[in-house]
Amino acid sequence: MARCRKCRKKADIFIPHHRLPLCDAHFKEWFEEYLERTIKKFKMFPKTAKVLVAISGGKDSLALWQALTNLGFDTEGVFIDLGIEDFSIISRRVSENFAENIGKTLHVVSLKKETGISIPDLKARTQKYCSLCGSIKRYLLNRFARLNKFDVIVTGHNLDDEASSLLGNTINWHLKYLARKYPVLPEGNGFVKKAKPLCRFTSFEIKEYARRQNIEFLEERCPLSPEATRLVYAEIMDELEKRMPGTKIRFYMDYLRKVYPIFNERVEEFLEKPLTTCEFCGEPSVSSPCFVCKLKAEAKA
Ligand code: SF4
Ligand code: ZN
Ligand code: ZN
Repeated sequence: MARCRKCRKKADIFIPHHRLPLCDAHFKEWFEEYLERTIKKFKMFPKTAKVLVAISGGKDSLALWQALTNLGFDTEGVFIDLGIEDFSIISRRVSENFAENIGKTLHVVSLKKETGISIPDLKARTQKYCSLCGSIKRYLLNRFARLNKFDVIVTGHNLDDEASSLLGNTINWHLKYLARKYPVLPEGNGFVKKAKPLCRFTSFEIKEYARRQNIEFLEERCPLSPEATRLVYAEIMDELEKRMPGTKIRFYMDYLRKVYPIFNERVEEFLEKPLTTCEFCGEPSVSSPCFVCKLKAEAKA
């Protein structure tokens, strides 16, 4: 067995991505230091920021909240209850237990209470419920953070998520997404700043951190998740990584360094419609009423 790179004791974990053997204690230290370096590298937020962590009950968001707490950041969590029956009930319970264990506040925003509809109601109406669900989550997170004066919203997106969605957006030349694909998006036009501090961590590293920190997380995926094309891109990226280790991080970081600045310069051109403010809820939107206020009105009708 290899020796820990830091203390030369027997290594408990090998991180292939960094070719790094580490003991348990130094793995925790490495994970948290690398997280802090990522936050600084991308100028995500300072130590004094009021941080809202978007919590799903899965390993990524809970590991992120744990590590930010260990590093002394000022955080609160928010859980969006999508009304997906047992899945939402269990993931909410897991998230609430976790918040209690670390002594932090978890806010719960209920989609049904806010809009009169749940995701299963939407699924009965449209096949595009997943992309609507994503937009609704972003809407509710932004609204909650803005009204409660948080400086930044952080989400648990990891390197595997970012590399596979980058592949999907590149293959389909979704320029409007590519032009905004960066791990930190500034505040402005009614949007609260958003950041993805785990963007340089693989799913494997996060799972190991969560396990070693004794975090109880939910492994099940949403039962409404379709056999999405997204998964195909994830599988292709995994295969490329297996054959050519380091592909994911190179693909993603080279994009951020070499390609993103070129697309981002023309971001306004790639947006389908200019942004305005919804006159009913005050959120930034391409129409007024915004899509959520329209859904609310339909639910009442
Ligand atoms: Fe929403 Fe479930 Fe689709 Fe994820 S898989 S976007 S939680 S409906
Ligand atoms: Zn060690
Ligand atoms: Zn609105």
